[in-house]
Amino acid sequence: MSAADQTPTSADQTTSADQTERHTGGMTTNDDGRRVLTPTVAIIGGGPAGLSAAARLAPHVESVVVLEREKQAGGIPRHADHPGYGIRDRKRFMSGPKYARVLVAEAEAAGAELLTETMVTGWEGPSTLVATTRSGRLLVRPEVFVFATGARERPRTARMIPGTRPGGVLTTGHLQNLVHLHHKEVGTRAVVVGAELVSWSAVMTLKEAGCRTEALVSEYPVGESYSLFRVPGKVMFRTRVETSSKVVAIHGRGRVSGVEVENTTTGERRVIECDTVVLTGDWIPDNELLRMAGADIDPASRAPVVDAAMRTSLPGVFSVGNVNHPVDTADVVALEGQFVADRVREYLVARNAGRPDGPSARIVPDAPIRWVSPSVWGPDRTEPARRRLVAWVDRLIRRPVVTVTQDGRPLARKRLAWPAAPGRVFRIPSELLDDVSPSGGDVRVSVE
Ligand SMILES: Cc1cc2nc3c(=O)[nH]c(=O)nc-3n(C[C@H](O)[C@H](O)[C@H](O)COP(=O)(O)OP(=O)(O)OC[C@H]3O[C@@H](n4cnc5c(N)ncnc54)[C@H](O)[C@@H]3O)c2cc1C
Repeated sequence: MSAADQTPTSADQTTSADQTERHTGGMTTNDDGRRVLTPTVAIIGGGPAGLSAAARLAPHVESVVVLEREKQAGGIPRHADHPGYGIRDRKRFMSGPKYARVLVAEAEAAGAELLTETMVTGWEGPSTLVATTRSGRLLVRPEVFVFATGARERPRTARMIPGTRPGGVLTTGHLQNLVHLHHKEVGTRAVVVGAELVSWSAVMTLKEAGCRTEALVSEYPVGESYSLFRVPGKVMFRTRVETSSKVVAIHGRGRVSGVEVENTTTGERRVIECDTVVLTGDWIPDNELLRMAGADIDPASRAPVVDAAMRTSLPGVFSVGNVNHPVDTADVVALEGQFVADRVREYLVARNAGRPDGPSARIVPDAPIRWVSPSVWGPDRTEPARRRLVAWVDRLIRRPVVTVTQDGRPLARKRLAWPAAPGRVFRIPSELLDDVSPSGGDVRVSVE
């Protein structure tokens, strides 16, 4: 029985108990008495990438199911309650929660089924996912998997910040959850670690919660976000960015009392008093399910290795959005969701026609490019989404010149009109790879 045989759920006000009951009624049950769902496409993650893919695919394939662990679908925008969403994909400027509601409504209207409070926890063999729902375990065995699980900020333990272990240390995601979804208080004086776009989003949320940001601390010589945000941000929030600096200790017993900041140029250290620390950026893709399945993972970004069509190294398994490139903005990710939907449709047609795969070349970045996505160039010459490669750099280059070589042979070189800056994605036009031979050796991408 396909997912289309189930009663569709709503990701809005319906209670999860109601949803689970209705879905339980529509499941097939296997010989062991376990519930099994067999949609054409299962999308894991109901954020902008997954919902946009679902909305685009649902009218064209028999059944599309989105599996979302939260009570409501929408992903990060649900709790990023400020304007800044929808610019490229909707040509509108809207708040995160509004944007999330629009994406959910569109996916449902297109006929996709959104199963919320359904967390995918692992695999049972290579083609069956195991999900935990309020009414127990659910097996999901689709023809095609699309992973759209996003990325998360590394918590304190993974950043190895020494000091005591007091309360009051949060990531932006945690902060916005507390403030926007649970209306909790967070403190009165904060230090924000990082100075990228998401860091300013944290400053905004702190202000709303009545907490003043004493400083943003950035390891780079210039704050990572666009000057369009950085300069007015400092004035509007009456805060400062401590550049070339890093937090070397967190102090406090019970609650944070201050952070120790070292200037990495002079070696000078000082303590900033605060009761809240927000750790921003430093993203890691939510790659666990793909890793468990044995998909190739890029050692630099920890994202799945994908080609331009967002195919992972596993047949019938695609991945899209910030799980592929931590992190880009939601509008770009939503456009990628639409893009991968079209690639999934092509895959279904090609698979039925028995079309074989061909050779593909690896794309390898040279420092200061840390990683690039896609990182495989396939034989079918699919152009990547928006005809751009997405990369991450570790050093600011205001007028970058990108060079592409293969087997030591220069293929293309171009000066770009936009800077390569740490803390935000660097876009490289894919036309620079037009002369790549998929059967050749590694393709090296460098910037100077
Ligand atoms: C604080 C903050 C502010 C931002 N501000 C802006 C902004 O102003 N404008 C803008 O364009 N972008 C902004 N962004 C970026 C934007 O939110 C992301 O680009 C976008 O949400 C990425 O979409 P995604 O679908 O890839 O991932 P996500 O939005 O992270 O969605 C992934 C979804 O997958 C689900 N999931 C993960 N694992 C599982 C599992 N095992 N089982 C089931 N479900 C699972 C998650 O619950 C989540 O709903 C901001 C990001 C942050 C953190």
